[in-house]
Amino acid sequence: MNIGCLPRRRLAEGGLSVERWTFSNFMRRAIYPGSFDPVTNGHLDVIERARKLFDEVIVAVAHNVEKQPLFTLEERLELLRATVGEQDHVRIGQFDGLLVEFAGLQKANAVIRGLRAVSDFEFEFQMALMNRSLNANVETIFLMPKEEYTYLSSRLVKEIARLGGDVSSFVPPCAAKALAEKFRR
Ligand code: ADP
Repeated sequence: MNIGCLPRRRLAEGGLSVERWTFSNFMRRAIYPGSFDPVTNGHLDVIERARKLFDEVIVAVAHNVEKQPLFTLEERLELLRATVGEQDHVRIGQFDGLLVEFAGLQKANAVIRGLRAVSDFEFEFQMALMNRSLNANVETIFLMPKEEYTYLSSRLVKEIARLGGDVSSFVPPCAAKALAEKFRR
């Protein structure tokens, strides 16, 4: 049921406060957090799947200083803006600190994570349960990419680019260009 489409009168009959009602409160909004260092076709696949399930998806770039990213926060944001920034129902954001706090501030009720292989599972499971214990209102939802992206990671793509390999089938063109510039010899 899409509550956002109900006429105001019916909302009032149903006992909901019309004054306090806003579409934003009823939106199914999800956060897709990550390092995106850089964005890959695997990330894009997950965003596309999430877009079909939610009214709005916020792709949230973690500051992640301890991970020592190759790209600065602004560069990672810029690559996302250039690839998914113009898509309907997708917003690009950034966060520092607790993911569940950011989710609460954004009125999101779900966190999306990509699951590629069993090796992802243990860490992701631990994180999902920890986040649930911090905020039980935020569900973690795992989405699996197309098989061809299950072996793809930003880390591998950076390694290939560093060694001079062709990454054009793994990342969007702007990310391939940015990687080539980073590793220009
Ligand atoms: P993090 O540092 O949070 O792992 P990443 O940018 O590496 O940041 O990944 C963000 C999310 O995207 C994670 O849930 C990760 O499992 C998922 N992800 C990364 N690469 C892929 C891929 N090829 N297919 C599906 N999900 C992916």
